[in-house]
Amino acid sequence: MTFQQFALSEPIQRALEGLKYTEPTEVQQLVIPVALEKSDMTVKAQTGSGKTASFAIPICELVTWEENKPQALVLTPTRELAQQIKEDFTAIGRFKRIKAMAIYGKHPFEYQRIELKQKNHVVVGTPGRVLDHIRKETLPLDEIKYLVIDEADVMLNMGFIEQVEAIIRALPKHRVTMLFSATFPEEIQQLMRRYLKEPVDIAIQCETPIEQLVEHTFIEVAKEDKFALLSDITVAENPDSCIIFCNTQELVNEIDQLLADLRYPCDRIHGGMVQEDRFAVMNDFKRGEFRYLIATDVAARGIDIDNISLVINYELPREKESYVHRTGRTGRAGKLGKAISLVMPHEHERLRTIEEVAGFKILESAAPSVDQVASNQAAFDDKISERPKVKKDRSSGVNKDITKLYFNGGKRKKLRAVDFVGTIAKIDGVTADDIGIITIQDIATYVEILNGKGHLVLYAMKETTIKGKLLKVHIAKS
Ligand code: AMP
Repeated sequence: MTFQQFALSEPIQRALEGLKYTEPTEVQQLVIPVALEKSDMTVKAQTGSGKTASFAIPICELVTWEENKPQALVLTPTRELAQQIKEDFTAIGRFKRIKAMAIYGKHPFEYQRIELKQKNHVVVGTPGRVLDHIRKETLPLDEIKYLVIDEADVMLNMGFIEQVEAIIRALPKHRVTMLFSATFPEEIQQLMRRYLKEPVDIAIQCETPIEQLVEHTFIEVAKEDKFALLSDITVAENPDSCIIFCNTQELVNEIDQLLADLRYPCDRIHGGMVQEDRFAVMNDFKRGEFRYLIATDVAARGIDIDNISLVINYELPREKESYVHRTGRTGRAGKLGKAISLVMPHEHERLRTIEEVAGFKILESAAPSVDQVASNQAAFDDKISERPKVKKDRSSGVNKDITKLYFNGGKRKKLRAVDFVGTIAKIDGVTADDIGIITIQDIATYVEILNGKGHLVLYAMKETTIKGKLLKVHIAKS
């Protein structure tokens, strides 16, 4: 199976090549043709199956570039996931110049309002903030033709389902609706019956059941011995990358501090941090800048990080469903991972309800022996003191050779995207295909130049007028 058989347009094919997606994953094989036919669908699939691209590829293919108002709306439970899906759309739609934006809470509404006024093909958001924009009429809905409800079961668990429903009711009736969920409880089925039209039901058998990819164990420990045990486990396992989950921000901060004092390459993430910091930490961890991430459940949902070798539940999750989300971070893409939970003597009942929800047994294991720890100590010390090899960003294949140029003129000078495209494409050695996303603000415009031609365009535009105006141009700061 290849992507060629979907007869995708050249810009999308080219982006997939850049991303090194040579073969569609199972969910993509099943979802893409149905989406291209514009049928409603329900998809039972888990993160890690390639499901984001399964809806992003056909949507990028189907949207009309010329339309300024959003044509696709993606609802997703968390801000990190919204941001990541936006990046996936941007990477896949790079050569078609698809503009995607993410809207979520705790980020200034006003910035989002301004960005929403510009051309956007795809809007990805968390339900609360999307609804806010709808109510304030800052998110135009009349051109929405595609609705994706991602991780519907997680949104249900987080109490978002009423907001999701309110959003659906505000959308044009004539649209394609794609609902993705790992499980289909009654509330989700109700939603499907109400709002999906003759959906095609797609179910992906997880190729290897999750419990086989991940070795799930627990170790019994008294509260006061937890940190010593954590330290022994990390030495004995000596993971390349590890997430340590706690239930509260305070404990995350405390463990992070204790490990940092012991010179672990570590950082933390929780909901009390400002969004920019959360993204920065997540990106650094993804890139392998440090090995130990201490996190509350905000980091557990849907985030795509490759190759986490060890997940430690310093505390059992408060919500039993979270166990699967937390440990789903490891053992991805066919690699074997380990999940170790620290369980206090009175917590066996909790553990059993977690097993029930997860659908597999979590076996008891012994704490690492003194010998084990001692024999691993040297290798462990080496690893925590060496600088980890930084991994490549997965969209770097399409992002390389891109230069973002700043021009000191925008809407107030009555400039439009076509004016920039028309002028830049006339430069010798440059074509419209070398132009990426154009963002026009009131007094500034940002234009992405692709294929390593940024400097060529930069120098030419220093002496070329756009609509009779000579603008200041330089390389944009971000
Ligand atoms: P998701 O299930 O959407 O979280 O995707 C899981 C991971 O698979 C992401 O890192 C994607 O970049 C990657 N991926 C998606 N589709 C493909 C493909 N066809 N070939 C290789 N990698 C893919």
